[in-house]
Amino acid sequence: MATVSPKAVEEFKQIFKEEYGYEFKSQAEAFGSAQNLVNFFEVLLEVEHRERLRKQKLKDEPKGFHLEDDGSTYNCIICHRMISGKEGWWDLDGQKCLDCQRNVENGVVPRNICRDRDGWYASWQIQDKLKIHSSTVRKMVREGKLKARNLTTEGGTIYFQVFLLSENQDTIQQLRKEKHNETATQRSKVRDSKDDKG
Ligand SMILES: [Zn+2]
Repeated sequence: MATVSPKAVEEFKQIFKEEYGYEFKSQAEAFGSAQNLVNFFEVLLEVEHRERLRKQKLKDEPKGFHLEDDGSTYNCIICHRMISGKEGWWDLDGQKCLDCQRNVENGVVPRNICRDRDGWYASWQIQDKLKIHSSTVRKMVREGKLKARNLTTEGGTIYFQVFLLSENQDTIQQLRKEKHNETATQRSKVRDSKDDKG
């Protein structure tokens, strides 16, 4: 890891003073901040370097490949499961667990969900954003009111559900409206009972 030289710390202090009007209280604080910045850029460079190597490798293996076996861990960009080495896959859509990779390749979910994170909700987001219970979500899926894309393991167990906004727009809007009205009614009830007490 690169260490900051005393000369660089002096320059860093100067820049901070000119740009942000901040003077470090001690040399140790200035050194610590400068070192943090250097460490941060080292990480960025590492990421950039790895990305470049991967894109290079993609020329020989266009369908992608397992993650590097160097002990680094990542999160699957779809289901967020922790992955590393042979449990993960990388292609231009990003790193995924092998199950999600298979589901994407089989067309269970459109490939663009990897890049367009605003275009879909996970189950927890549906619950959170619409303030409904997980059992309500399951019921609505059963009744066909919500359309879920079921991601399954090789054994056929559902491990993750994707709700495409494009497929659920009407239901989501209606639920939002209902929730909004419910809250408004509750508020007016509270107001009325206050008025009664006068
Ligand atoms: Zn996954």
